[in-house]
Amino acid sequence: MTATPASPTTSTPSPTPSAEAAVLDTAPEAALDTAYFRRWIAETNRLVRRDSARLTELDAVIGDGDHGANLVRGFGAVGAAVAEQRPTTPGALLTLAGTTLTNTVGGASGPLFGTALRRTGKVLGDTGTPTVTELGAALGAGLKSVQKLGGAELGDATLVDALAPAVTALAEAGEADRPLREALDEAVRAARAGADATEALEARKGRASYLGERSIGHQDAGANSVALLMEALRAAVDAPEAELVTEEPAAAEEPAQVREQAPKTRTGRVGIVLVSHSKAVAESVAALAGALIGSVEPAPLAVAGGTPDGGIGTSAELITAAARSVDEGRGVAVLCDMGSAVLTVNALLGEEPSQLPDGTRIVDAPFLEGAVAITLTSAIGGDIDAVLAAAEDARGYRKR
Ligand code: ADP
Ligand code: MG
Repeated sequence: MTATPASPTTSTPSPTPSAEAAVLDTAPEAALDTAYFRRWIAETNRLVRRDSARLTELDAVIGDGDHGANLVRGFGAVGAAVAEQRPTTPGALLTLAGTTLTNTVGGASGPLFGTALRRTGKVLGDTGTPTVTELGAALGAGLKSVQKLGGAELGDATLVDALAPAVTALAEAGEADRPLREALDEAVRAARAGADATEALEARKGRASYLGERSIGHQDAGANSVALLMEALRAAVDAPEAELVTEEPAAAEEPAQVREQAPKTRTGRVGIVLVSHSKAVAESVAALAGALIGSVEPAPLAVAGGTPDGGIGTSAELITAAARSVDEGRGVAVLCDMGSAVLTVNALLGEEPSQLPDGTRIVDAPFLEGAVAITLTSAIGGDIDAVLAAAEDARGYRKR
């Protein structure tokens, strides 16, 4: 088999794409430049599409069976964003990829992968062609940001169990001055081994943790997709420049999803946003909270329920639109139902600059009780501290 290796350092598409990316001993050293990371997005799209059914199957056994679809949608949107905006540095490309994932995936993996890539991109900064060591260090910062966001430690059977060993492998390979292909081979091996090892572990984070010990015996879906992303990093070295997948994410149907109860002209109340995986749940809880308030003039309240296409999940886009629609300059309290809704809001709060209005805070309370408490407190004119305190009270209310 013959192959023409991709041009090592050009940032323009390779004019002679090879049919197969063979690993040749004589292959020239490739550079981790912007063109390389574009190829990485293309390869990631190829691999997540190829393995989508498997990822979904893994997630179906101990989760909710949407992981493959989540990644296909998310990285499709990343492909479209990169093709359209044409970032000119690896850092800018990864930052864009991260923001896009957070904004388009309605599952926990969106904000988690999104935060990791965004942080990686930020740490790379303006570097034109990072070294293996620099990439490893930046991914290490990405790993830390995921752990901060999701609270997972090594051994909790999450994507952290594949990402952490891959980061270590890159650091060690960089230290030993190994050639790029070997360094990435090591990262793939480490991530793969980490993902395989989740089978013996009890899941302690994410949906799979609801199963407790019954999660043992099944591999974690997210750890497998990290291994896939590493495979794509390796494949991108020798891959020809490919067309980026340019699948547009489904357009948001804002008017149908964001319900605004208060006229925007009134000012001076704390805005309330209810975020649920389900549009029906968010709207019903909002209706109940409104009804229980009685004759008090209603608080500015909006819901962000489900995904823009009407599915179950969380949408950063809908949350941002909802928060803006209720902002009257006194802060916005965001109450989420669970899991990825919380992760998405925290990821949005962590972005700089944040798309959310100034003074937006996440509320820690059970969804229904919290919604009633904060809606009433805002309606009677309480400030953001009073609203947060009301949520605290709702959280402390015991039922037995
Ligand atoms: P969802 O769980 O919302 O359906 P996905 O199915 O897309 O989202 O992603 C599930 C994966 O996300 C899990 O397999 C796990 O690797 C990862 N995950 C979930 N919660 C956490 C967390 N708190 N910390 C780290 N990883 C997590
Ligand atoms: Mg899932």
